[in-house]
Amino acid sequence: MSENKMTVPFFKASIGKEEEDAAVRVLRSGWLTTGNEAHEFEKEFAAKTGAKHALAVNSNTSGMIMAMEACGVKAGKAVITTPYTFVSTAASARHLDADVYFADIEKDNYSIDPESIDKILDSEKGKNVVAIVPVHIAGNVCNMKRIMKIAKKHGVYVIEDCAHSFPSPTDLGFAGTIGDVGVFSFYATKTMTTGEGGMVTTNNDVLAKRMSQMRLHGMNRDAWDRYTSTKASWEYDIIAPGFKSNLPDILAAIGRVQLAKADEFDEKRKVHVEKYNREFSKLDFIKIPPTSKGDSRHLYLMRLNLEILDCDRNVFAKELQERGLGISMHFIPIFHFSYWKELYPDFKAENFPNAEEKYLETISLPLWPDMTEEMTDYVIECVKAVGEKHHV
Ligand SMILES: *Cc1c(COP(=O)(O)O)cnc(C)c1O
Repeated sequence: MSENKMTVPFFKASIGKEEEDAAVRVLRSGWLTTGNEAHEFEKEFAAKTGAKHALAVNSNTSGMIMAMEACGVKAGKAVITTPYTFVSTAASARHLDADVYFADIEKDNYSIDPESIDKILDSEKGKNVVAIVPVHIAGNVCNMKRIMKIAKKHGVYVIEDCAHSFPSPTDLGFAGTIGDVGVFSFYATKTMTTGEGGMVTTNNDVLAKRMSQMRLHGMNRDAWDRYTSTKASWEYDIIAPGFKSNLPDILAAIGRVQLAKADEFDEKRKVHVEKYNREFSKLDFIKIPPTSKGDSRHLYLMRLNLEILDCDRNVFAKELQERGLGISMHFIPIFHFSYWKELYPDFKAENFPNAEEKYLETISLPLWPDMTEEMTDYVIECVKAVGEKHHV
């Protein structure tokens, strides 16, 4: 049935011989769980981002829970984040029995609106807030200067969700080192991957210590220290009911290779994004995605100018799929999910007009380092064809 010229997957990770060799090296070494590879990975990630501490974890989600726990997020407390994110950002606070207050995104981009954060913190319920959790959607770094100022004024922590923002160097340092904690993801589709995995960065020694203990059962020494330090001992203390969030060495070894290639991946995405922007700026039914200093271009969030199209986003997306394009939607705002609607009755689209508007006009296009010229040409051709067909 398919008479399409080609199919273009939404994403394909760039995994080469080096990653294979790294994994095999660890398998043959006899040390499979967290050990030397994870420690080296942490050192290299800290060096790259300029963070004082980097802690390898098994996902961004577990890193986020650890970060929130260390900042004192618990029952009776709350965090502020955006409805325009993957649910785990908000769910992490619920795992700690805390509440989530949502601030709308800005009018012209997908970043949390600092003034909306400030308003919540000034209100009565704002007294419960212990942390602001900005999300650098698609690699666009939020207005961190303003957010840090607001956080300081109200005495709350800032935990950056950096699942999309690596590598993201800004005037204030790398995304993830500007706030108190940064939480990265190495999930299969992110800018660098270990299949599943993540990293937590902080310059705060107290938070680093708490997170490193909570990462492995609440133990006061990790397994590596116990088995390899000169003071080797079977003894340990348990200081809290901790988590099991450590990153195994097999994955850390793959991560080290990916980290070394991260800038090269970024350069390749940049070429594709610039081509999309150049071609799409000629089309009146497409709005070019926002960008920022340090934009890591994790996603290409194409927005439709629905006023001059006779179809909605869903029809447009479906027709792109029928032509062989892998597309996605980042993100379904959290207020559309039943759990969250039931939890907070006033958490609805009408109270978050900017998030809802972006949601209704956005489609994520294929974007990954090793796309060929033919592939990006074909993506552009499909977008043109569908848009012209539906142009009023
Ligand atoms: C992918 C993603 C996460 C979760 O990352 P995991 O490593 O899968 O836990 C969190 N936040 C955002 C914005 C994401 O895109």
